[in-house]
Amino acid sequence: KEDGRNRYRFYDTTMGETIRKKLQVEHEMREAIETMEQFELYYQPKISLRTGAITGAEALIRWNHPKIGTVYPDDFIPVAEHTGMIIKIGEWVMHEAARRIEQWRASGIVPLKLAVNLSGRQFGSPLLLHQIRTVLQRYDIKPEYLEFEVTESVSMISLTESLKVLHQLRDLGVGVNIDDFGTGYSSLAYLKQFPVDTLKIDKAFIMNMLDDQDDRTIVESIVSLSKAMGLKIVAEGVESIEHVRLLKKLGVDYGQGYFFSKPVPFGQLDRMYRNNLVK
Ligand code: C2E
Ligand code: CA
Ligand code: CA
Ligand code: CA
Repeated sequence: KEDGRNRYRFYDTTMGETIRKKLQVEHEMREAIETMEQFELYYQPKISLRTGAITGAEALIRWNHPKIGTVYPDDFIPVAEHTGMIIKIGEWVMHEAARRIEQWRASGIVPLKLAVNLSGRQFGSPLLLHQIRTVLQRYDIKPEYLEFEVTESVSMISLTESLKVLHQLRDLGVGVNIDDFGTGYSSLAYLKQFPVDTLKIDKAFIMNMLDDQDDRTIVESIVSLSKAMGLKIVAEGVESIEHVRLLKKLGVDYGQGYFFSKPVPFGQLDRMYRNNLVK
């Protein structure tokens, strides 16, 4: 539960300080991505609300800074996006996730489906498809074990181009989720055209749905719409048993959130999976 609090902030000072710090982050990131050794993937399990079993996990990057300690993605992904360093970081994330999938397979365990986040710049990158193909070949994993989470507002490129990329991903056989669903503006109108199989309802709606009738209505609408269109639904930000009860009642397929587990290092996910240790 401590995840999310007491985070070191790079941007909590005056303007001049802010700019100086930002340049420093950039500089230190440029050094750090040479070896990628300071980066680590944490994993947060996704749970079937029907069976209670772990069905997959989302990879969430952490920067273990030698002086600062853990730096969270909200504090460095924007800089990585802005500078283009996200392309290299994103490639490492895919390799790392694929390596874990291969590791499970090699030890005779059915791999969990691992989901990797793609930011706008990665999604629009001409290198993306090539990077994914290379990863699938190098670790010799089945594409179905790898999944990508993209937000609705992949605004870097046009809708036509986005659709093309989504189709290419589908043709590769990897899974694609729409992340943070409900927060973008395109949503409902375009959904029909998107070749995706899963929607992730943004945690803001889930976290407020017990107290806020509007948020509850939004969740209910997304759920009935998804069902009508044959899409699976993941609820993120599941923090309490009350959330679980309501989501089950609404027929939501999967849940992810602090109630089940915060994001954990791979070893811990592996232990949870082998012993089926979540609630
Ligand atoms: P996201 O994809 O929406 O990921 C969900 C965020 O919600 C994660 O924050 C996760 O730790 C947090 N979370 C999980 N359960 C709960 C809960 O029950 N309550 C609350 N309040 N929060 C919960 P995190 O790890 O700090 O990541 C933040 C964002 O950074 C992610 O949002 C994603 O957009 C981005 N990100 C993380 N890893 C990567 C990566 O490898 N590549 C890219 N491009 N982006 C990444
Ligand atoms: Ca995500
Ligand atoms: Ca999300
Ligand atoms: Ca988000």
